[in-house]
Amino acid sequence: MRARAEPQPSDCAFTPISREFPRAADAVPNLRDYYDTLLAAFGPQHWWPGRTAFEIIVGAILTQNTSWRNVERAIKNLRRAKLLAPGAILAVPARRLAALIRSSGYFRQKAKKLKVFVRFLRTQHQGSLAKMLRIRSATLREQLLGVHGIGPETADSILLYAGRRPVFVVDAYARRILERHHLADPKMSYEDARQFFERNLPQDVPLYNEFHALIVRTGKDYCRASNPRCEECPLERFLPERASVVS
Ligand code: SF4
Repeated sequence: MRARAEPQPSDCAFTPISREFPRAADAVPNLRDYYDTLLAAFGPQHWWPGRTAFEIIVGAILTQNTSWRNVERAIKNLRRAKLLAPGAILAVPARRLAALIRSSGYFRQKAKKLKVFVRFLRTQHQGSLAKMLRIRSATLREQLLGVHGIGPETADSILLYAGRRPVFVVDAYARRILERHHLADPKMSYEDARQFFERNLPQDVPLYNEFHALIVRTGKDYCRASNPRCEECPLERFLPERASVVS
């Protein structure tokens, strides 16, 4: 709940996401300033924690609707069982796979999703992640979105963290911050929110990588769904004047 000081004027061309909702274009902060502020406050987050591109993809699927801590245990089990390779996931019985990833929740569905992904990899890219990650971002995104169990956030995590493509990953925390800072319409689509970030930031893979991780940190520690901790949050100075964050 709060009210705050002067918003910082933008020194870049800021493109509002909606004509009706956001602040006037000359009264909005620069998204790059958000990034710099969070980086200064929290430091690098060292994402994505995966040793290989395949492990990153497995993590991106397993982290749906659960915390990373639960995913870590599942990945540890898969590593111990020598299953962190497309061929191994393809060959292992679904029930065993589900048991190994139990800690990540929705484990039967997620086992199925992993199987579906490696089948896609085999049929579309001869089982080669290197081949898959060489194709154009837009084409790959479209293909990934056609795979059962891969939605926009997972597809973009794969593109950014495994494929090192300049694609911004939008999660619930990012959307909440945009809404609370009057930068976006609460009804924005995933696609609109992604384009909003990409239009207002340089196309920079390390920056997108780090910014997403910093946003997650902000969301978890400060910008919670209820009782947001604005007074202690590094982004407090960017809140629009008279903004009231309802918990
Ligand atoms: S908690 Fe931080 S990011 Fe969320 S609305 Fe408050 S100041 Fe903004």
